[in-house]
Amino acid sequence: MRRAVCPGSFDPVTLGHLDIFERASHMFDEVIISVFVNPTKDKALFPMEERVALIEKATAHLPNVRVTSFSGLLNEFCRKEEAAFIVRGLRAFSDFEYEFQRALLMKKIDHSIETVFIMTDERYSCLSSSAVREMLYFGGDITGFVPPSIKDDIMKRARSAQ
Ligand code: ADP
Repeated sequence: MRRAVCPGSFDPVTLGHLDIFERASHMFDEVIISVFVNPTKDKALFPMEERVALIEKATAHLPNVRVTSFSGLLNEFCRKEEAAFIVRGLRAFSDFEYEFQRALLMKKIDHSIETVFIMTDERYSCLSSSAVREMLYFGGDITGFVPPSIKDDIMKRARSAQ
């Protein structure tokens, strides 16, 4: 069983993330999307359980994808789930430096885990959760940024948070 973990903050999940999940679901037998706390990022807009629920709704059409959350080290999560692969999306050069360091660190911690990178689709190369949060803050239109099935849920939640 080729099992991969897609870790991330997903605050909130975007069309760029969904594209990576869909492509990973064709490459692996099972894909586990796991919402992690990223201690280097500011306080999240969406609580953990809501981020999980949004991803579950957006990936309902992908039968070999499961969504969960984890608070801890990624290598421990992979071991617990018996996943030998980590999938990360790559956008611009700015992602590369960060992802390169993380992948090498992961190899040092656990040599059996392989990090696999999927290049962004050019439609989503400038799309990020922080851009979506900024749009929400200023009441902008997030059509084309987030999966259509969860757009209203995201807008509703953002309005109640303000
Ligand atoms: P993290 O806090 O772990 O960086 P993110 O939710 O920001 O979590 O991103 C999760 C993963 O998705 C990362 O590998 C990131 O590079 C990737 N990603 C984010 N946005 C896009 C996008 N538009 N296209 C492709 N990959 C993306």
